[in-house]
Amino acid sequence: MCAHVDDRKPFLLTSILQNKCPRCRKGKLYKNSNPYNLKKFMEMNKACPVCGQETDMEVGFYYGTSYVSYGLSIALSAATFIAWWVLIGFSVKDNDYRLFWWMGVNAALLLVLQPIMMRLSRTIWLSIFVHYSKDWNKGDVVRAERTNASLQNAW
Ligand SMILES: [Zn+2]
Repeated sequence: MCAHVDDRKPFLLTSILQNKCPRCRKGKLYKNSNPYNLKKFMEMNKACPVCGQETDMEVGFYYGTSYVSYGLSIALSAATFIAWWVLIGFSVKDNDYRLFWWMGVNAALLLVLQPIMMRLSRTIWLSIFVHYSKDWNKGDVVRAERTNASLQNAW
């Protein structure tokens, strides 16, 4: 065979971090690559530009991202808490308010990272219901159910 087909399976974690389609792990889920374009950052492609996987699976599908977003926020807070503990430290008799500094810095970080986390939450949520298929280039996609165009992006 002379034709080179790149059929390696991209890693799950890297494809999620790059907001790639969970079916083929190649196509982009979002129309804009910049998450800080705040007017357009949540606009998704109706279907994956590479394999045709639909991204809106049913009415209100992305309501469930709140669970993922919550989990991500907790995980990030736990990570910054541990990092703060190791690098700066907390103490019981704390006169320099290190715990409150951590709370403030963590809240600011959560706010600044919100656009990235919102996109990641949708990508993770879709990845729970749509899995990788090695036959993605043969049209093996998961069909959406009872979608309603007037309710799209209504959340
Ligand atoms: Zn795809």
